[in-house]
Order: sequence, then C-alpha cells, then structure tokens
Amino acid sequence: MKHYPFLDLAAANSPYADSLAEAAARVISSGRYIGGPEVTDMEEMLASQVGTGSAIGVSNGLDALRMSLRALILTGRISPGDEAVFPANTCAATALAIADAGLIPVPADVEPDSLLLDAANLESKLTGRTKVVVPVHLYGRLCWSDDMATLVARHGLTVVEDCAQSIGAAGSVAGPGGGKRAGSIGHIAAFSFYPTKNIGAIGDAGAVTTSDPELEQAVRSLANYGTTRRNRFEYRGFNCRLDPIQAAMLKVKLPHTDSENAARRSVATVYDSNLNPTGLRLPPLPATPEECVWHQYVVRVSPGIRDNVRARLLDRGVETDIHYPVPVHMQPCFRGIASGPLPVVEEASASMISLPVGPPATPAGAAEIAGIINDIMQGR
Ligand SMILES: *Cc1c(COP(=O)(O)O)cnc(C)c1O
Repeated sequence: MKHYPFLDLAAANSPYADSLAEAAARVISSGRYIGGPEVTDMEEMLASQVGTGSAIGVSNGLDALRMSLRALILTGRISPGDEAVFPANTCAATALAIADAGLIPVPADVEPDSLLLDAANLESKLTGRTKVVVPVHLYGRLCWSDDMATLVARHGLTVVEDCAQSIGAAGSVAGPGGGKRAGSIGHIAAFSFYPTKNIGAIGDAGAVTTSDPELEQAVRSLANYGTTRRNRFEYRGFNCRLDPIQAAMLKVKLPHTDSENAARRSVATVYDSNLNPTGLRLPPLPATPEECVWHQYVVRVSPGIRDNVRARLLDRGVETDIHYPVPVHMQPCFRGIASGPLPVVEEASASMISLPVGPPATPAGAAEIAGIINDIMQGR
C-alpha cells in the first residue's frame, strides 16, 4: 500500500542538505557563536523579504511574540492589564505570550469560512481596555481586511501580527493590506522557524519584524538581557537571542520561501479541484493565490464522523493531523478566560482534518488522496 506521510522533515530539508552542512561548518570554523554576521545577514534577508525596516532574530516564535509585546510595554505604547484580542483557534503560544507580558488574553471567535479572526468578531470583543489585536495568519492565510483596518484605526489598537504560519503570504495591491506581505501590516510581527513551518530551521528559531526603530531597539535590548551597551543593564531583560547556526540554516532556506510556498499552493489547488465537497467543507480559495501559503490545508466533516474518517484515511495510508483539537480558551492553563461561548471555533475544532500539504506532498499524491477521501465520504 502506498503511504502518504503528513510531513517528512528530512525530506523537506534534503534539497538543501549539502548547503546546510556547509553553512553549519562555516559557523563552527568561524569561532563566532553568539550574534555576528550570520545573524545580521539573516535579519537583512528577512527584512527585505517581508518589506520592513528591520528584522530581529530571536530564539523561537513564542519568544518573538513575547519580545514584541514586552517591547510595546517598554516603549509605553501599551500597559500591563490592557486587553489583547486574538483568535481562539490559534496555537497556544499566541495566548501564552499575551499572558506572559501581563496583558489580558481575550479569545475571539472566527469567520466560519476561512476560520480567521475578522472585523465582526474583533469588534464584539472590544472594551474600553482593549489595546492590542493579534491577527494570526492561520494556516498561512493573510488575516487582514479593510474592515479590520478601519476598526483598528477607529479604536487606536496596536497590531501585533502572528506570522508563524504565514511567511511569504502577500496581499494583492488592490486588496486589503495594499500588497503588503505578512509581517509588514501591523506595528510589529512575530515569525517562527520551528522545523514544521513553511520555512523551518534545524531546531528552534524565530524573528520579529517592524519598521519602528524604537520598537526594534527595545526588542534587541530585551532579547539580550536588557542591555543597551556592554555591561549596562538598562532593563530587566531575557536571553532570547537567535543562534548563529540557526541563522546560517535560515540564510540557506529563506531565498526559497516563494518556491516552497508555490509547491504547497499547487498541492492545495489539486485538493480544491479534486475533492468532492458533498459532506466535506473545503477551505475557500483566497482572492489572489499569493494571499495564502497553505501552511495547513484544513477540511471539515461533521463532528460525529471526524475520528472515523481519519482512521479510515490512515487505513488507506493517508496520515492526517488536527490544528488544533482543543481551542486555546478550553486549555487547562487558560480555562475560564473566555467571556462567552465561541461556537465557530468550538465546532471547527471537532470537525477539522488537516491533509498533507507540506513536503513530501505532491500534486499527483494530492489527487490520489482526494480520490481516497471521496471514496470514504461516499461509503466506498
Ligand atoms: C508555531 C506557532 C507559534 C510558536 O512558534 P514556536 O517557534 O514554536 O515558539 C506561535 N503562533 C503560531 C500561530 C504558531 O503556529
């Protein structure tokens, strides 16, 4: 029987294996193991790719969010105790960072088709204490709209983008965001290079992007013990520096962001045209292809059959996953933070199935998987 892995990280990195090994050897022989040119090169590469004034390499995606939010506090833009709205179907790290910074996490429901935070759900969570919104470009799809921009401007909200799943996603020039890439829309943005992301390091890595020099300096300082110059500790900071080995790995992989995303897009396109939507809810195609980099391809079935469909897919060699089975507001560490039920998020968490879309998935394999799913859904 043919096997369709959900994701194979060794396969994902095999096209780059020689360059990665060379880059690692270069760092080892350089004698420069903290900071230095590998990190600054990677930062320049990312900033120019995203279209921001700067990028700051950090240890991982959670720390990128933590340092972004803490930099906003350090520079007096927001204060501990302010409320930060985020979509409840995100990775727990989004909410962990909000809580870590002393802000109040306010989970919101999402738009039922795209499963992204939208203006209506954001507006329903606004109070006099709301100061931050964290749009999560979930599943690789740009989470921004003209309505959201209007709402953010009217209420003077600070926008912290969570770009962990969306490197390379770009709005169309005519659409919301005016052609901007994920990471250049808000005041500050967080990226993760966790190995399973569209561009993954060989371990943990992350980055912050911003075009605000004051925020850049605050992140740089906070992530490096709170120093402003040698032996001067201006703030009570952290050690969230990007490892130069990982920076060197990312220098190899970042130039391939668009081609990696294009490969995922071609798999998603085949699912879209081959899956029979009877009894199966497909993710909407974005207005323009560039708006989505398909970190996940998430379909939904009725909650009662979800686990059975997954088991039958596995019987026929198709690995699947769920992103995520338990929404953030129902996790033990956050239980009770929601001010009401979040019906779309809760229903989606019980009905979603993530299909293979990352390496080694191919368009031909996606057509085969779609055939298997159509068979299962039609009782064959
Ligand atoms: C992966 C992820 C994170 C956390 O990134 P790490 O590098 O694992 O800390 C944060 N937010 C979202 C949406 C993610 O998918």
